[in-house]
Amino acid sequence: MINLILLGLPGAGKGTVSEQIVDKYHLTHISTGDMFREAMANETKVGLEAKSYIDKGDLVPDEVTAKLVEERLAQPDIKEGYILDGFPRTTVQAELLEGITKRLNKSLTSVISLEVKEQTLIDRLSARFMCKSCGATYNKITKMPKEKGICDRCGGHDFYQREDDKPEVVKNRLEVNEKMNAPLKDFYQNKGLLTVIDGEQTPEKVFESVDAVLSK
Ligand code: AMP
Repeated sequence: MINLILLGLPGAGKGTVSEQIVDKYHLTHISTGDMFREAMANETKVGLEAKSYIDKGDLVPDEVTAKLVEERLAQPDIKEGYILDGFPRTTVQAELLEGITKRLNKSLTSVISLEVKEQTLIDRLSARFMCKSCGATYNKITKMPKEKGICDRCGGHDFYQREDDKPEVVKNRLEVNEKMNAPLKDFYQNKGLLTVIDGEQTPEKVFESVDAVLSK
């Protein structure tokens, strides 16, 4: 069983490496950002509550987010383990997660932090675009769809830029997340769970490094 947290600022490559991990290890990918975007699209209660924070690049309150994660982790489809992508983002969330994994008997086995220079994050986020129907992520510079204008994953034709990837919001998002990131790393370092990986490498090299940790 591999139960993994991926830490890293927005644009560090968590989504891309998650896809590679899922292909090899069949873990269940749980992205709180994806879950919030889906909830907003469906205009659920959580979605409506989260929208005002997300549109500004602020964090959704810890309790709301933790509840969403607990409900997801309790689902029976998680057989080979899970990847948490985008959660926890604060030490309060990390503490809430400890309670959740204890209650569900799904303790963490590793924490990987993907580290990338700030300028790289800004460049990547401003070049990022998404498939409107399935949410797959692309990048104008590094990851265009294999066939122009057609989503590799679902065949969709419509793409968009995330509201919170627009330059006016990116700056606040990075600031908010950077402030929280160091204490979060310390939290898992102290538990002996943390491995830091250089996210400036090519996606293939990043995955090799991640794979070395997971196959231990
Ligand atoms: P992401 O796709 O991970 O960048 O998440 C998009 C937005 O969703 C973030 O900027 C936050 O507003 C919200 N969000 C996602 N995960 C969390 C979390 N763990 N805690 C609080 N807010 C979150």
